[in-house]
Amino acid sequence: MGKKNKPAKSQWAEVRGSVVHGRGMFAVKDIPEGTEVIKYLGERIDKDESNRRGHVLLDESKDTGGAQVYLFTLDDNWDLDGNFDWNTARLVNHSCEPNCEAQIDEDLKIWLVALREIAGGEELSFNYGFDLEDYRKHPCHCGSRKCVGYIAGEDYWPKLRRKLKKKKAKAERKAAKERAISAGQ
Ligand SMILES: [Zn+2]
Repeated sequence: MGKKNKPAKSQWAEVRGSVVHGRGMFAVKDIPEGTEVIKYLGERIDKDESNRRGHVLLDESKDTGGAQVYLFTLDDNWDLDGNFDWNTARLVNHSCEPNCEAQIDEDLKIWLVALREIAGGEELSFNYGFDLEDYRKHPCHCGSRKCVGYIAGEDYWPKLRRKLKKKKAKAERKAAKERAISAGQ
């Protein structure tokens, strides 16, 4: 890239080891609701470039098993690729019951904003907002009571729940059929 970017820092949070997967960001002090906790940095790219990078990242994530997708939709023309070491905020983990939210300001800058008061020591999280295209590749281990089992934007939850219900019903029908077959032998 040739860009010399300093890692994003925040007076509110720092990187620590995480029980979810590896690392995460944690509040170093109480954070009031509505605080812009840390800026989500990245490179602004057009939709064609974004699609290209998205596919490369998905191919890579097949090997690593991780959800290595840090592409954000900014508006109809632009996305933001946050897959850079200096984008400290990429270490914030996904949660189905997050305490932060990614908000885009009028200059198309992304901030992780506190959705509620966050106590010092709490891990920061936000909903990655993924669609359902590859949801099976992105299981969620956030551990919250609201966890839907996969990383997906809340708008997609009703659809995701229907899909999972169908999948479960299908598996149950298959199991019942197998039981019937073995009982008949
Ligand atoms: Zn979850």
